[in-house]
Amino acid sequence: MRAMVLERPAPPEEKPLERAERPDPKPRAGEILIEVEACGVCRTDLHILEGEVPARLPMIPGHQAAGTVLAVGEGVERPAGGDRVGVGWMAYTCGACRFCRSGRENLCEKAAFTGRDRDGGYAERMTARAEWVYPLPEGFSPKEAAPLLCAGVSGYRSLKLSGIRPGGRLGLFGFGASAHLATQVALHWKCEVYAFTREEHHRELARRMGAVWAGAGEDDPGALLDAAVTFAPAGELVPVALARLDRGATLAINAIHMSPIPSFSYDSLYGERRLVGVTNFTRRDAEEFLELAARIPVRASTEPFALEDANEALLRVKRGEVRGAAVLLTG
Ligand SMILES: [Zn+2]
Ligand SMILES: [Zn+2]
Repeated sequence: MRAMVLERPAPPEEKPLERAERPDPKPRAGEILIEVEACGVCRTDLHILEGEVPARLPMIPGHQAAGTVLAVGEGVERPAGGDRVGVGWMAYTCGACRFCRSGRENLCEKAAFTGRDRDGGYAERMTARAEWVYPLPEGFSPKEAAPLLCAGVSGYRSLKLSGIRPGGRLGLFGFGASAHLATQVALHWKCEVYAFTREEHHRELARRMGAVWAGAGEDDPGALLDAAVTFAPAGELVPVALARLDRGATLAINAIHMSPIPSFSYDSLYGERRLVGVTNFTRRDAEEFLELAARIPVRASTEPFALEDANEALLRVKRGEVRGAAVLLTG
């Protein structure tokens, strides 16, 4: 099979992902083999490429893979051969620790991750544990479904942790793949969405999706926010976003890695404001979100790339040039 392999971390400018021919992986007990049709490109992949999130190397990245089950390993009853499935970031949890036993498997300390600890979807085929794949919603092509599997679900978990209520004023800081999907959920909940972003094409996308305002300081309506989520990995956004919160409001940080957060005055937290770092997501989050995404329906704006162009796709993510979500196609 064709695969894009990372041997050594380096910025995407240096094209660290190399095209390789690999034998097809074999599903072990409890695993399935998937024919990958599309794999979303996530900012986390960029952090892995650049060594900010350490991975087992060599590694095939990619944790938003959508495709069809080709074969199942010993003991697997579901899914079955021919089923359309998606794979996300979490690949394994222990099921026994204090977090797993209290409905917080996203915090499991023994968790393993797709495209970090085991090979992911930047390839024609991959294996995954059967209990960590999701049926793809009806009516979604693999290209449309792929960005839902991390950008979509993590955005949804961020909205939940932000405590946003129907009709509330929601601030989104950074407007990439995850934010444009979260916006569609928030609008379905009749929220007012304020998109804080510097890129003109991101503002345009936000307005087209239905944001009441999109900008970066100039002509800022200055409304106090009932909840906010930051999506960009820029620590300097945190005090800016906190300063916009109403009393009792929460800022959820949707990032696995972030540059240092500048110091800020306690006044930004006083008034029972909260700050939370969103970490992974549970299978329940994924199931809830995929069901909701099918019902709304959430439509990802995607920019397709050939599998071989993974370095270019990551470079465009790094530069904030992608409108919506970048997706690698194997076909
Ligand atoms: Zn655990
Ligand atoms: Zn991701």
